[in-house]
Amino acid sequence: MISVIIAGAGSGSRSKLDKNKLLFASDGQTVIETTVRAFLPVDEVGQIIVTASVRDQKEFAAILCPLSDKIKVVLGGDTRTRSVKNALEFISGDITLIHDGARPKVSISLIERVIEKARANGSAIPVLPSTDTLGVGVGRIESVGRENIYRIQTPQAFRTDLIKKAYSFVADGDSFTDDSGVYCKYIGPCEIVDGDRENVKLTYPEDFGKFPFAIGTGFDLHQLVEGRKLILGGVEIPHHKGLLGHSDADVLTHAVMDALLSSVGERDIGYHFPDTDPRYKGADSIKLLREVMSIVASHGKKPVSVTAVIMAEKPKLMKFVPQITQNLAKELGLPEKDVGITCTTLEGLGIIGEERAIAVRCNLLVTDK
Ligand code: MG
Repeated sequence: MISVIIAGAGSGSRSKLDKNKLLFASDGQTVIETTVRAFLPVDEVGQIIVTASVRDQKEFAAILCPLSDKIKVVLGGDTRTRSVKNALEFISGDITLIHDGARPKVSISLIERVIEKARANGSAIPVLPSTDTLGVGVGRIESVGRENIYRIQTPQAFRTDLIKKAYSFVADGDSFTDDSGVYCKYIGPCEIVDGDRENVKLTYPEDFGKFPFAIGTGFDLHQLVEGRKLILGGVEIPHHKGLLGHSDADVLTHAVMDALLSSVGERDIGYHFPDTDPRYKGADSIKLLREVMSIVASHGKKPVSVTAVIMAEKPKLMKFVPQITQNLAKELGLPEKDVGITCTTLEGLGIIGEERAIAVRCNLLVTDK
């Protein structure tokens, strides 16, 4: 009889989801259910032990136990190694397969491959040749090339007596990233079978079809009057008129700030920096932008691409664009190529065309920090 252990007790913190990634549903079914279902059609499989954290144990059991009476959900430990060690106590088959809960695309042919090889040789580890050259080190690396270097997958199959023996040597503090590590250390080198490129481990947000970007949009307009400075993106532009406002009236920086705030679902700059507050009289908008950037950071986000169009009849802004771009790129923590500033006139039409106002529209993308 074949026993299967499915490791599901990890937190999945790299996936940046707000719950265990294995409980994330795609196509109406959780990842853990898809993974467990993959083993059910294999006749020889007589037992499936799924490890879960205290937080998820009940939910796992509610999803999985109705699928088959072969399935049991047990409590894992603080590490994958502890979890598998706990699960091994429940195992009664002569061959044990150990599989990552986050590899739902495991195929029946791969399952059969590892079973057959482990029966004959004691162990079977699915591997893929590394297509990347690998390096090892901390800070500085030494190249280990890619010849005879493999990426290791699961399910990993072992004769149950051998993997139990290997785990009996594991001390409380020991932590291995997988079971081949435990087997190699305490029993010997593992036999390999061809892995499967489809059999990926879901790890990062994009693996879950979660689009890791959010869009922001901002618009602002200020009156153009005599006797004020004209400041755009923190750059003072020589002109006989300037923009009217409670702060320095930097219309470009204001539109960028509103775009940033909207991208993380925050209220607008009028809410955060009210024009009734004397603290913001004549305020340098670039300083306010720095505050907005820290609000965005508090949401775990950072801008990745910013575009703005400045609508102004006069002055001609073209020659100031590089300086404005450089200034905003620095404040936004972006390379200049990711800050796109364009300028347009309004053909003499309307309040902008009549040089009574300047307006800016800004669009941007933020992503996870
Ligand atoms: Mg404004």
